[in-house]
Amino acid sequence: MEIKYCWRCKMEIPMLDKEEFAIASELYSNGFKIAKADRKDRFKELLEYYNNLTGFGETEPNAIMHHSLEQIGPDCENCGKPYRTPKAKLCANCGDKRKVE
Ligand SMILES: [Zn+2]
Ligand SMILES: [Zn+2]
Repeated sequence: MEIKYCWRCKMEIPMLDKEEFAIASELYSNGFKIAKADRKDRFKELLEYYNNLTGFGETEPNAIMHHSLEQIGPDCENCGKPYRTPKAKLCANCGDKRKVE
């Protein structure tokens, strides 16, 4: 888990690493398998997992599903905000061109 700026939420938020996100994805898909549960109960385990891990108070299960470090790029060398996607060529914040690795 790392705190990163999220372009969709427009705030810094705990993002899950590969292993953590794999667990979250599983809890999320488990949520759909529970019959006759209301939405809050359905994703209770996912929210608990995320909130215990991050100390955050997330209430929206769908938000967790885009808080994955694998879905964003590395930090911009100029402004420190992460690139929007792993393949982005321009920084969405400062317009800095990304150096090709
Ligand atoms: Zn977000
Ligand atoms: Zn930048």
